[in-house]
Amino acid sequence: MKLQEIKNIDIAGKKVFIRCDFNVPMDEYNNITDDRRIRSALNTIRYCIDNDCSVILASHFGRPKGGFEEEFSLQPIAKRLHTLLKQEIKMAPSIVCDETMKMAKELVAGEILLLENMRFETGETKNDEDLSAKLASMADVYINDAFGVSHRAHSSVEGIAKYFDMQHKAAGFLMAKEIKFFHHIVHNPKRPFVSIVGGSKVSGKLEALHNLVPKVDKIIIGGGMAFTFLKALGHEIGNSLVEEDLIPEAVKIMEEAKQLGVKLYLPVDVVAAEAFNAEAIAKIVTVQEIPKDWMGLDIGPASALLFSEALQDANTILWNGPMGVYEMDKFAKGSTKISHAVASSFATTVVGGGDTADLVRITGDEDEMTFISTGGGASLELIEGKILPGVKALVLEEDN
Ligand code: AMP
Repeated sequence: MKLQEIKNIDIAGKKVFIRCDFNVPMDEYNNITDDRRIRSALNTIRYCIDNDCSVILASHFGRPKGGFEEEFSLQPIAKRLHTLLKQEIKMAPSIVCDETMKMAKELVAGEILLLENMRFETGETKNDEDLSAKLASMADVYINDAFGVSHRAHSSVEGIAKYFDMQHKAAGFLMAKEIKFFHHIVHNPKRPFVSIVGGSKVSGKLEALHNLVPKVDKIIIGGGMAFTFLKALGHEIGNSLVEEDLIPEAVKIMEEAKQLGVKLYLPVDVVAAEAFNAEAIAKIVTVQEIPKDWMGLDIGPASALLFSEALQDANTILWNGPMGVYEMDKFAKGSTKISHAVASSFATTVVGGGDTADLVRITGDEDEMTFISTGGGASLELIEGKILPGVKALVLEEDN
């Protein structure tokens, strides 16, 4: 797949609309707790400024109900952009009101205008034609650098792209990097290729699992989703998370792995607790001995060792989803050990998913990973083999 990239189109002196993903975590006082997504967008923004462009930035943030809500305003993002870029960021009062359109029109080379939260417009998530047209009318060039939201057909992600020809739209640097990394890892990985899949539910990652099994040499399944597999194997899993209706799918995945000679690893022990809270009494048990009313909230030390050994000869590791309820210290040990094992391997290591990215930051392994994706849902859909709506309009050549 060949993408139209920003470096291959003429943007000099033009008015450029850049769809970014500034959907960063904030605490209750509106402090940005992790600005990685903002920092990741700087390459594209700086490149445009260096090319004498006037720059209009757009992003969504959180899930406002529609209309202006102070707590979802992009004002704190404007401040952080100002700190990082060391230049004034003009803040628009809305998205497409007359005053905002006027500000966009009057923007001159080297200036940056940040629109308000895209989702203050209810048309955004409906891919509304009128909204897309209005947004498109603001600029000469459209750049999509919002990988994290590129799996959504929204006005500022998909609809807007129709109004620009291939010489006037392109993927930004971040988008191009994300797509290339996942494309390469899914289609051309250095082997052995090991995938670690965790998190809460099988359902959210079912298609990704089906698509991964024929591509990998080993698959490691941990987190809450492992219990559906363990139950399928006949284990008593107590009150652990389970999706009964997906047990046949779990069986199918295990059978397919066996047929293809793919090594499939499940936990051999877990940290079981009496209740789902940080103070609950917990103990390490083998998967054969999970007490009836207890629930498995982390992989145990034997599983962490087993998984780490399985990672030893890997040349490519793709990790999506924590091994346990890592938000509670008591159930974070399994995920932490796997994070260290992935970080210390000699493989190309790709981490996807907001929780897993958050986890490797907490464990201090962030800098040791080859690539941390900024998009959870989007990276999963790439693994599932889908063409993302926000990317489709930027494709120059499909794969044969
Ligand atoms: P996901 O969004 O599907 O990637 O799931 C991430 C969430 O899975 C995290 O919030 C974890 O707390 C949760 N999780 C991981 N392991 C378990 C488990 N054994 N039981 C319940 N939740 C879990």
